Amino acid sequence: MFENLKNLKTYEAGKPIELVVREYGIEPENIIKLASNENPYGPSPKVIEKVKQNAYLMNRYPDDSFYELKEGLSKKFGIESKNIIIGAGSDQVLEFVVHGVNPKKVLMAGITFAMYEIYSKQVGAKILKTPSIFHNLDEFREIYEKEKPEIIFLCVPNNPLGECLDAKEVFKFIEEIDENTLIVIDGAYQEFASFKDKEKEIKPKEVLKYKNVIYTGTFSKAYGLGGMRVGYGIANEWIIKNLHKLRPPFNITTLSLIAAIEALKDEEWVKMGIEKNFEEMQKYVDFAKERGFNYIESFTNFVVLYIPNSSKVANELLKRGIIVRDMASYGFDALRITVGKKEENEKVIKVLREIS
Ligand SMILES: *Cc1c(COP(=O)(O)O)cnc(C)c1O
Repeated sequence: MFENLKNLKTYEAGKPIELVVREYGIEPENIIKLASNENPYGPSPKVIEKVKQNAYLMNRYPDDSFYELKEGLSKKFGIESKNIIIGAGSDQVLEFVVHGVNPKKVLMAGITFAMYEIYSKQVGAKILKTPSIFHNLDEFREIYEKEKPEIIFLCVPNNPLGECLDAKEVFKFIEEIDENTLIVIDGAYQEFASFKDKEKEIKPKEVLKYKNVIYTGTFSKAYGLGGMRVGYGIANEWIIKNLHKLRPPFNITTLSLIAAIEALKDEEWVKMGIEKNFEEMQKYVDFAKERGFNYIESFTNFVVLYIPNSSKVANELLKRGIIVRDMASYGFDALRITVGKKEENEKVIKVLREIS
């Protein structure tokens, strides 16, 4: 029993605040959590108000057609409801994709979002990764030609590194892959990337004309709803119909649904968060330059700084109640720091100046 899970590791999420409270005896209000790419500003206040008003509905299942949410997304992206599947986070959509295709081989960048590998291993697929840690499409092409994987994952922009392919390159690549291989474009950070650089913008509408492409998006990052678990997949009707066969009923909660619908109505709030994100990110970049540390130019809400002895530094930060992501497990010394609020970033940089 469980033979098929033997080589599977459990996903290690960023350390929760509760753990640091228990281990280091630091008060929760003094903890700075910058490890999971959460939105420090949270959702629009209108979303919070709406959820409060509707809290009494928690005995009711949600509208399982997600009619209003799909209408909202359709309007935003210029598509139709039949092109959308809703998931408990875009993670769940990725799960539907992998379990639905049931691939023998999958292809992804050398370092990319961990769930691609985890879902793929669940179905016994062989994991192919490019030698380059970043998305190098020449390497993707070469391995694709040789191995013909059934799924190719493109994380645009890439988590946990932060780099981002141009939309033009992505679509050129799609044209070169035959229809028996499904291409997943994970746009979890697209709102950030397209704000920073229009060349990075992938319009979900543009994937509809391909038989073999799905775009995934989420309310967890730019919309500040990580704890509500709402994501979506956008593709042609045939793909979406097939994925729906894997979707359990009521897969997001009544209040998550209400929150996501409301969040789409306040794009100003989202924009404010994105603007502040890049303003604040610059402080980390300036710090890296000042210290002569390399960093990866980021199109997301986190930034990777190459800091020597990163594990030691991460541990010192933790003792001071600051949670970041150590990249040492990927084989190099660096920290991935989610950009927080002004006070948080300034505190983190002050401590980094002392200990790194
Ligand atoms: C955060 C993230 C997701 C999905 O997050 P959900 O909370 O499950 O919607 C997907 N892909 C990448 C690359 C992410 O960083």
